[in-house]
Amino acid sequence: MDRAEIRGLCKRYPSFELKDVSFSIGSGRITGFIGRNGSGKTTTIKSMLNLIHPDSGEVSFFGLPMFGNEAEIKKRIGYSTGTVSWYPRKKIRDLVAIVKRFYDTWDDAAYRKYLDLFQLDENKMPIELSEGMKVKCNLLMALSHRAEILILDEPTSGLDPFSRSELLEIFTSLKHDGVAVFFSTHIITDIEKCADDIVYISHGKIVAASSKDDFVSNYSESGESLEDIMLRLERSVLNA
Ligand code: ADP
Repeated sequence: MDRAEIRGLCKRYPSFELKDVSFSIGSGRITGFIGRNGSGKTTTIKSMLNLIHPDSGEVSFFGLPMFGNEAEIKKRIGYSTGTVSWYPRKKIRDLVAIVKRFYDTWDDAAYRKYLDLFQLDENKMPIELSEGMKVKCNLLMALSHRAEILILDEPTSGLDPFSRSELLEIFTSLKHDGVAVFFSTHIITDIEKCADDIVYISHGKIVAASSKDDFVSNYSESGESLEDIMLRLERSVLNA
């Protein structure tokens, strides 16, 4: 069963166009949304979340169209389109007291579980957290209201290789808890390490959307690695 369906998203800026973007996000899977800087990942994610208004296209979560069901859908998803920007000088425990009032699905046991798993100190303020901890803090908030799908824009960028690897392991453990994880990245090794599915975007167009295994078997020429395939495809799109 798919958790999200994106059909025919188009958005035109003066010097960029998102063209007929379609893909789905499967439940219990990690989907890596890969593309170089400026390929349209953030524009797609913001359109999916209705944070910007696409010119056309349809987005649905859990079989419900975003249009008309946004409040209900947003209670069931967790998203982050940047690092923590709210109340940088409030302790996590005080932030939680504010955030939990918005969610009737808030789950204190889940909050304790992920606080422990992420090794976050609830007496710290966002301003005192490293980049990796800020990402975990965003995840903590999302998972404590039992988000069934996480939509994360570039969660690994700005992290050192150790924190990146740790975050990717966390994605895998969330997947085993039944959470669908969708994250954008320009780092091919992120995909190699943990993604089940790949959505590959280049110049505002989806080049491929499939399982990672199918992607490699469809595109690999003479035993190329995922990185070799993507670099070759990117060159061929440029020359097209
Ligand atoms: P990515 O997340 O893959 O790096 P983005 O979706 O952020 O790419 O950006 C894709 C293109 O759209 C870029 O060329 C960017 O300059 C352009 N763009 C993004 N937002 C706006 C905007 N509000 N107005 C005009 N152009 C924009």
